[in-house]
Amino acid sequence: AEEEVDEEAAALAKKLAAYRGVWVFVEQTEGEPAKVSWELLGAGARLAASLGVELCALVIGEKVEHLCTEAFAHGAAKVYLLDAPVYRNYRTEAYLEACCHLIATYKPEIILMGASGMGRDLAGAVATRVGTGLTADCTGLDIDDKRNLMQTRPAFGGNIMATIMCDKFRPQMATVRPNVMSMPERKEGATGTIVRVDFVVPEESILTKVMEIIRDATSKSHVDITGADFIVSGGRGMMAPENFTILQELAEELGGVVGASRSAVDAGWMPGDRQVGQTGKTVRPKIYIACGISGAIQHLVGMQDSDMVIAINRDRQAPIFEVATYGIVGDLFQVVPAITKRIREL
Ligand code: FAD
Repeated sequence: AEEEVDEEAAALAKKLAAYRGVWVFVEQTEGEPAKVSWELLGAGARLAASLGVELCALVIGEKVEHLCTEAFAHGAAKVYLLDAPVYRNYRTEAYLEACCHLIATYKPEIILMGASGMGRDLAGAVATRVGTGLTADCTGLDIDDKRNLMQTRPAFGGNIMATIMCDKFRPQMATVRPNVMSMPERKEGATGTIVRVDFVVPEESILTKVMEIIRDATSKSHVDITGADFIVSGGRGMMAPENFTILQELAEELGGVVGASRSAVDAGWMPGDRQVGQTGKTVRPKIYIACGISGAIQHLVGMQDSDMVIAINRDRQAPIFEVATYGIVGDLFQVVPAITKRIREL
């Protein structure tokens, strides 16, 4: 029986050893890359260095060769490029077939994707098809002494950090939200190898057809808070939707945007795309001003990596002060307009 166990372990080790390399999926829309892809190349570089393997980028699209240069500049040593009209718009079926073909051919040990709409969709489909594990929304990635990827993410409503491993299957797959990993330094002029993969999914085999793309250009209500340098966020302490005007005024002075806690979103005071936190967005602005937000762990995980946090709360025991660079104990209805007034005077 012992011999059998040894044989099984040896067979598993052999199976896993066939997979090498860290891959990052470069998400793009009409040739425009998603910032999270470069952040993931930064994280991937650390993993590749501890494993002693190559960091590769995966670029799929139409007329997307320029993204190879960007991938090299952000640390990739090699780019697998699939450039064909069938990949022009993201469609699960086409991208899934392409990824599965690449995995079967080149056998990467790790694949990272952004936890965006596209990344979440594609990662889930790929993991299911190739029969491997996937950890969504990771906040930490590391390598253990057996070359396994340690994938850390909040669990049980953010009350614990769980480290998840996929030690019997390859590739190991993880998605990471934008702004969680830091952006690597851009190395202008860096070069690498481009592997042009001539694999084209036949158009007739794809059921989804994109007829037209209509941009929501008229809607001013949608704001991408993940890219903002300055965020003024309001919580339940704002008391009513109309009171967010004072946050909007301060945000405008700073050239920033207004964010919100889940309580404020649940109350219908702010739209869902402004929510910061575990079930909202992860943000990393230069300055995050939390107004009337208590600082529940589910909120903190979405903003605690901001360069500077200013908390305004009338309760000096509020947990938000534990992550604050500057804390102001006071009534936000007095403090916020006073700050705005002072900035206008400058
Ligand atoms: P409260 O906790 O009620 O805090 C209001 C604060 O305002 C208090 O600290 C009070 O002292 C202060 N205040 C009141 N009036 C004033 C005033 N005039 N001047 C100054 N201060 C004042 N929450 C999120 O934010 N984002 C998430 O993504 C998220 N995801 C969640 C996921 C799960 C699974 C669960 C269980 C919860 C999640 N939550 C999330 C909810 C979270 O647990 C808290 O309930 C929520 O963050 C509290 O919001 P708040 O700080 O606005 O409200």
